[in-house]
Amino acid sequence: MTIREIKTFPEEVLRNKAQPVDVFDEDLVSLVDDMVETMRVAPGVGLAAPQIGVSKRVIVVEFGHEEDENIPKRLYVMINPEILNASEETVNGIEGCLSVPGLIGEVTRSQVVTVRGQDLNGKPVKVRAQGWLARIFQHEIDHLNGMLYTDRSENFWQPDDDDDDEESF
Ligand code: ZN
Repeated sequence: MTIREIKTFPEEVLRNKAQPVDVFDEDLVSLVDDMVETMRVAPGVGLAAPQIGVSKRVIVVEFGHEEDENIPKRLYVMINPEILNASEETVNGIEGCLSVPGLIGEVTRSQVVTVRGQDLNGKPVKVRAQGWLARIFQHEIDHLNGMLYTDRSENFWQPDDDDDDEESF
């Protein structure tokens, strides 16, 4: 496993539409291993392949529960993820992005999403996520489409000591 450099705005790779994965091989496993390692060291709760300069539709998310620290973190690896369903009900939250250091911002997201994708073997997987987990999935899938949270927000600012609860992804 290798910790990769996280690309930051305005690097072009963050603005490109990432390519679908159609080969499920050792290189893909290795890419995901590096992404997990890089996410954990950052630290962050999610990472998309373009954030390490790889324009492929791969995301990793690692999260437990926003209100209950006793719920263990779970790692999700999603290849070619897409949002199948997004609730009309939305919620505002404060996001930070590992690729946009030094800023946080308020973003409106769907409260519940169903995400469909594939695992490392190419087998179909589906996740129904709500709350903060749903937010992370939406943020990471945006990365695959060349979009940053700052495109969805007009309200962002530099964090101060009162803002240390925020997590980046
Ligand atoms: Zn991000």
